[in-house]
Amino acid sequence: MRILFIASEVEGFVKTGGLADVAYALPKALHALGHEIYIVMPAYQMIEDLWQQWPSKPFNVEISYFNTESVEARYGANEGLNVIAINHPKSYARPNIYDDGTYAYEDNAYRYAVLSKAALEWCKQENWQPDIVHANDWQSSLACFYLAEHLKGDTFFANTRSVLSIHNGAYQMHCDARWLSQIGIDDRFFNPHDFEDDGHLNVLKGAIGFADGVSTVSPGYASELTSPTGGHGIDFKYRELKRPLKGILNGCDYDQWNPETDPWIAKQYVSIDEEGKTLCKQSLQKELGLEINPKIPLLGTICRLVDQKGIHLLVPVILQLLKHHDCQIAMLGSGDQNMANQLQFIQRQYPHRFHFVNGYDVGLSHRIEAGIDAFLMPSVFEPCGLNQIYSLRYGTVPLVREVGGLQDTVCRLSNSQRNLKTATGFMFSELTEQALLEETLRMIDVYKNKHTQWRAIQKNGMTKRFSWKKSAIQYQDFYRDLLKSEKNTHRLISQEE
Ligand code: ADP
Repeated sequence: MRILFIASEVEGFVKTGGLADVAYALPKALHALGHEIYIVMPAYQMIEDLWQQWPSKPFNVEISYFNTESVEARYGANEGLNVIAINHPKSYARPNIYDDGTYAYEDNAYRYAVLSKAALEWCKQENWQPDIVHANDWQSSLACFYLAEHLKGDTFFANTRSVLSIHNGAYQMHCDARWLSQIGIDDRFFNPHDFEDDGHLNVLKGAIGFADGVSTVSPGYASELTSPTGGHGIDFKYRELKRPLKGILNGCDYDQWNPETDPWIAKQYVSIDEEGKTLCKQSLQKELGLEINPKIPLLGTICRLVDQKGIHLLVPVILQLLKHHDCQIAMLGSGDQNMANQLQFIQRQYPHRFHFVNGYDVGLSHRIEAGIDAFLMPSVFEPCGLNQIYSLRYGTVPLVREVGGLQDTVCRLSNSQRNLKTATGFMFSELTEQALLEETLRMIDVYKNKHTQWRAIQKNGMTKRFSWKKSAIQYQDFYRDLLKSEKNTHRLISQEE
């Protein structure tokens, strides 16, 4: 198959979260299955040293009746994969990806409309007919709309099907309705069933109804998205899909996340019976100014500082743990300054037991995964989550909330502890400090007092594999099903009445 993969971030170039990991690893795995694939992304300013050296080809893109933009396709590669960076300085020559450091850029809908439409136009320029256009999150979701509406009668795309993958359904791109005409959405689609959301434009909400197939990154999150409590306000859109929302669990890039080969960590290790993990813990304690002590449980987390990650639960629980229990905690995160301030405040109170690094640091994220004993992930919601999967591979025991992909990837040690052959971690359900604290204390108890059980959980986790090949085969089957079926003929509610 010929697959056009459109993403706003790609690991190796720019990354703010899990979407970038997928946009790198999934195309790689699909390519390995024998498919022809192009990744299309913006030519952002922060990576201009790279793409400025790539050959370029200019062309025009009609975004709407009013707006035609001149763009350039820059032809590059990422580990053997074809990458097209769309150069449109008006949209991408800015210091950050999505915001000015405080506020989202007010023309974000337009910037990513350019990406979505340019990706489709590039296919025509190259006479490269895609079987599948795979859009990701709100940023490229309009590609599905443009294919279904702007290019409806275009024979070039007659056999093309669109897929929209939801990596995080909370980000939908709400903006002023004046952008509608700018990005080529006809007024008749500004109704509560499509792009309208309380008088505003909601890009993702509308685009979902135009995709031939919609998928998300875990079966657990797929079922949450269709429920009123987990659908981020647009659950009806997921329930109404003609083809049910497909949950395909993300894989893990074990080329990057493998303690046997990891270049970032103090000592590589194959099994936890070796000294490697102990040395990694010691080295992390030293690096972060924590007391060097192999016996004390060292917990940790790495995340964007946003509400989704359950920081409001974590902060009071960390304080309780530090006040009343013997443990250390290492945190790496960036985002909300208020949350960062609270964590820095805790660090000043407990400098040898708590360390928070405010920033984005790939090397340190690897050293934390290898050096800590347990990884805390008390997410409010979690489409898939990657760090719990990395943790398993490093013999680091995950403690997660029972949501989304976390429940699909971690097997909780039961209260009776009879499932020692399969358990890989700890899990709590209720979104309360109490529930998180209780499960954390249960985990610390196993760590301190039940060494054999702890070792068993670590070993079970280390043997787990979430391969991208397996995920890519599921995407491939999903694509094939779509190609065998009719296109999604989106009907206006008004037409149905
Ligand atoms: P999300 O996409 O919601 O941020 P995921 O768990 O799916 O969450 O993916 C997060 C990815 O970003 C992981 O690879 C994680 O290691 C990485 N990451 C998050 N915050 C940081 C940070 N401050 N420094 C380094 N890596 C980070």
